[in-house]
Amino acid sequence: MQEKSKVILIPCDSYDGEQVYQGMKKGLELLGGLDSMIAPEEKILLKPNLLKKAEVEKAVITHPAVVAAMGRLLREEGFSNIILADSCGTGSTRKVIRGTGMDEALEKLGIPAVDFSEGIQVEYPEGVQAKDFIIPKELLESDCVISLCKMKTHALERITGAVKNSYGFIYGLHKAKGHTRYPSADSFARMLVDLNRYVHPRLYIMDGIVAMEGNGPGSGDPIHMGVMLMSHDPVALDSVFCSLIHLKPQMVPTNYHGEKMELGVWQKEKIELLTPEGEISLEEAVKTYGNSSFHVDRRPVRRGIWERMAKALNLFQKKPYIDQQKCIGCGVCVNSCPVPGKAVNFKNGKGTPPVYDYKKCIRCFCCQEMCPKKAIKVK
Ligand code: SF4
Ligand code: SF4
Repeated sequence: MQEKSKVILIPCDSYDGEQVYQGMKKGLELLGGLDSMIAPEEKILLKPNLLKKAEVEKAVITHPAVVAAMGRLLREEGFSNIILADSCGTGSTRKVIRGTGMDEALEKLGIPAVDFSEGIQVEYPEGVQAKDFIIPKELLESDCVISLCKMKTHALERITGAVKNSYGFIYGLHKAKGHTRYPSADSFARMLVDLNRYVHPRLYIMDGIVAMEGNGPGSGDPIHMGVMLMSHDPVALDSVFCSLIHLKPQMVPTNYHGEKMELGVWQKEKIELLTPEGEISLEEAVKTYGNSSFHVDRRPVRRGIWERMAKALNLFQKKPYIDQQKCIGCGVCVNSCPVPGKAVNFKNGKGTPPVYDYKKCIRCFCCQEMCPKKAIKVK
């Protein structure tokens, strides 16, 4: 019988440093311990979700306490060659973490936060959707990646969790270009699955202590979920996240394609769910830690011909809208738009709300992700 994918659920009701550390320590033991995953001399890259500069309480980025706990555990186990980096949506690693507390924690631990310095094209002939990537030099130079993802909603993929966190391995502006290359939720998800298969993070840890619901991944609302999830299988981890928010895991393209492309498994029969108190059924976990009113896109899935027809006829398509009252006319959305000639642009000059050209818009929602004023909603 095929071995099940292990997902560890650690109840954790606050970001108290000691509580997070103890919980993570227990979780790692249940996964076999760090020394079973990483050799002492290996160069480790920690990859949190650092979408953009935002107050920690807004749940936009992986919480500094989660990063600090991982760093401390690695240091205590004697690992010395560690860096932290992300290809942020806007800003660089060091700028995004400045003043969040993550910078101070890393300094104390002697773990440098690094700005990716150069993009290198790598070929991936095995890729189902993506046969090449432009990835940072620093990633190529590391031996082991630990993904420290955040539990959040996402306009294009419904959720951003373990699989989606790896998009930060695409170098700089090539992230925006990726949206024009893989414009649909399905093609983008398949590319993400390929990217995870290529980078192959050794361990995924999800900060779901305070998650983001609603207009994620940058403009949603923080919501207490009180858990950390840990796994070697990013699809299984995301699947448990989905179950906790009462969303069918197969409705998330990265889960659906992730299992088909053998990155991991989403079906509950193939997942072993463990807590520090022992094995727990998914139903029990959902009852104890789940939230049925979590605000996430629950519209039915359309795939293949139905999706193409809806697109061609412009029916049932989600669209970004600007709230004129909240918009300050900063132009971040315009700069984020990857479409040549821009699908959102100033019509009445900078300082006024930009206007959408929905005929050009590929619905990547980069503009909504990056708006600093939560002025863009997807409806
Ligand atoms: S990013 Fe947001 S605030 Fe800035 S111009 Fe666009 S909609 Fe307005
Ligand atoms: S307008 Fe927004 S959603 Fe449309 S293509 Fe540009 S960034 Fe993507």
